[in-house]
This record gives sequence, C-alpha cells and structure tokens, in this order.
Amino acid sequence: MPRYFDAHSHLNFKQYGADRDDVIARMQDEGVWTITVGTDTVTSREAVALAEGHEHLFATVGVHPTDWESGFDADVFRIFAKNKKVVAVGECGLDYYRLKTGDQRQKTGQEELFESQIQLALEQDLPLMVHARPSAGTMDAYNDVVDTLTSYFNTHTSKLRGNVHFFVGDTDIAAKFLDMGFTLSFDGPITFTREYDEVVRYVPLDMLLAETDAPFAAPEPYRGKRNEPVYVKEIVRAIANIRKEDEEEVRRTLVENTLRVFHITL
Ligand SMILES: [Zn+2]
Repeated sequence: MPRYFDAHSHLNFKQYGADRDDVIARMQDEGVWTITVGTDTVTSREAVALAEGHEHLFATVGVHPTDWESGFDADVFRIFAKNKKVVAVGECGLDYYRLKTGDQRQKTGQEELFESQIQLALEQDLPLMVHARPSAGTMDAYNDVVDTLTSYFNTHTSKLRGNVHFFVGDTDIAAKFLDMGFTLSFDGPITFTREYDEVVRYVPLDMLLAETDAPFAAPEPYRGKRNEPVYVKEIVRAIANIRKEDEEEVRRTLVENTLRVFHITL
C-alpha cells in the first residue's frame, strides 16, 4: 500500500533529465506513488516507459489543450492506452488562460482535441485526467468543460468518469463535476493562499485527491523551487488542516480514492 499517492505529476519532463533516478528513489524511500502524465505524443510515450520500469509509477496518455495544433492520432494513442500501466486518458480539456478573445479557431481546435480524447477514454473504458484553466477572473473554461462532459454524461452516464486536475474552480463548478462522479485534485497553491479553502472544505473527502503537478507549482516550504512527487505530503497536510480533519485519516483516504478512481489494484 502506498503511503501517499501523487495523482498527477510529470516525471517525464526535461526538468528531471539530470536526476530522475534520484527523484524516483526518494519516492521509493517514502512510499510515494505517482501517475506520470503525458501532454503530447513524446511525453505520453515516455510516461508509459517510466511506468513500465517502476512498480510505483503509472501513466496517462493524451494531448494538452495548449498543444491543440499538433492534432491527435487516435491510432497511436489507442496503442498507448492498451498498456496495463496506463490508467487514464489526458491530460485533456480546455485552457483559456492565454487565449485571445475571439480566437474561435483555437477554441474549436481545443474542443475537437478534447472530444477525441473523451471518445478514446470511453472506447478503452478509462477515466479522464481533465485539465481546465479559465481566463483570469472567470470560470469560462470550467463552464465549457462541464457542458462538453455533460453531453457525454447524458448518453454514457458513469462510463464517463475521471478526475479534474489542479482544481481552482469555485463550489458551484465543483458541484457540477461531483454530480457527474468526477473527483477533484488540489495542488501546491492551497499551502500558500487561502483562496481555495472554501472549496477544499466543500468537496466530500472521498471525492478529493492530492497531486503535485511537479515540476510546477511547488508547495510551501519549497515554493519557487522545482517541485517533485514526495512534496505531495505538504498538500495532504494542508488539506487536513484546512478541513480540520485528522491528517492520518486524510492521508489514507486520499490514497484509497486515487486507487479507486484509476482502478489501480495492488
Ligand atoms: Zn499537469
């Protein structure tokens, strides 16, 4: 049984080129497992290779919405998805953070890319690792992701499933995902801003996951440094503190949740 499960990280990224084995060894020492997330064809292939080489690593395969112009070769990703260590399709979704207003071509491109991956996930009976990043001060990308998922949920019900990664939405948005059975995962920012406390308290404990999104968004006390999966401990501690719940119980429940959502059997 893992002690901690970092539900979303990128050990496949170049930031670990010099010391990836050390980072993985630290995880092994501390009983930290992770899902290595692919964001394009190359990093998806690397995520699968890493997962195949390490018992405590799993992989997702997919194309990030900001890579919408690269398209999606369903045949290639179908082969990836059939690997036993692949536990989800993604990260996929909609990212409006840097989208210029009126860039309809990009919006349509992102939407098509997202739907191709929803279809692959349904076909392969895998959950989705959803990425949604709204433009500043809005919930726009969340609203569109909810609309898209709802249209598939209406036909496929619980066959459509997954986790919404790096959740920074409000409680209304959270409720919409929870209604479709999607879990929500939280990251480093909950350790240094009180902006997300309300939503962290709102989500039922059995629908909540912890993740680092390493190498990005390191939690306190590592803020500004390269993040790594062992720092997931800080996120788990923050969740317990914000919710005023027992840290040991939160730790154990979050591990169980991750195993359940991604159908990982020990
Ligand atoms: Zn990510």
